[in-house]
Amino acid sequence: MKTTASLPIPPLFYTFPPKQSIGRFAPSPTGELHFGSLIAATASYLSIRQLTAPLSSSPSSRQDQSQAKGKWLLRIEDVDTQRCKKEYSLSIIKTLEAYGFEWDGDIIYQSQRNEAYQAALDSIQHNTYPCSCTRKKLQASASSGKFGYIYPGFCRDSTHQSDHHQFAIRIKTNSKKICFKDQCQKEVYCQNINKEIGDFILKRRDGLFAYQLAVVVDDAWQGVTQVVRGADLFDNTPRQIFLQQMLAYSQPDYLHFPVAVSPSGKKLSKQNAAP
Ligand code: GLU
Repeated sequence: MKTTASLPIPPLFYTFPPKQSIGRFAPSPTGELHFGSLIAATASYLSIRQLTAPLSSSPSSRQDQSQAKGKWLLRIEDVDTQRCKKEYSLSIIKTLEAYGFEWDGDIIYQSQRNEAYQAALDSIQHNTYPCSCTRKKLQASASSGKFGYIYPGFCRDSTHQSDHHQFAIRIKTNSKKICFKDQCQKEVYCQNINKEIGDFILKRRDGLFAYQLAVVVDDAWQGVTQVVRGADLFDNTPRQIFLQQMLAYSQPDYLHFPVAVSPSGKKLSKQNAAP
């Protein structure tokens, strides 16, 4: 009996190429990089580059491995143009280069992304409201919690004329707990944002977008799948997950590592010119 023209023999089973991992290092240029920032850069870098296992000899698994390799992005978080300085952005980039970090693609600058933040804000407009409360008023009348004052919702139902340059824009939170499992913690962490923080700011009264909105929009836009950063940002994560849910973005994995501290136990920070 004759066989038909030979077809390639199918493999016994197919493996789907693993989802490409995308990580990022996202320093704010409010000062020079310090020892703690280098730990953050290294941790996020290794979380992606560790995926580049020694190459296998088989061409098909070699292809799988290069797809699995992942990307490590550098994003300069200079959204707060009042506190950030261009000279610090330049020196951060130089320092990373000097330490041998290699990022994929172009560097993204948040100061150039206002249109994207505004578009995201517009898309959830029905869940936001203008707020004219001053910090002074809130410090005097709002109760304070673990994360500073808890916004009591003073402006939630008032009908201010919404001029986005005179009013901050807040997001309406609810009492549904937001929980996530950090890759570095045993327990799931939950936060009732409404109770513990209140409606938080997405756009400040000076017109600058808040970190919480910018970071969520950029992580989604850049397709970030794993956020690796210092534990000082751990408590911000539920707010970011809440925004991801509002904006129908997917949620990355989170890993918050312990931060480096000075001998007196203080977190190293750029503003304090840590070495
Ligand atoms: N830009 C922040 C900082 O320098 C980090 C933000 C983040 O990793 O989500 O502390």
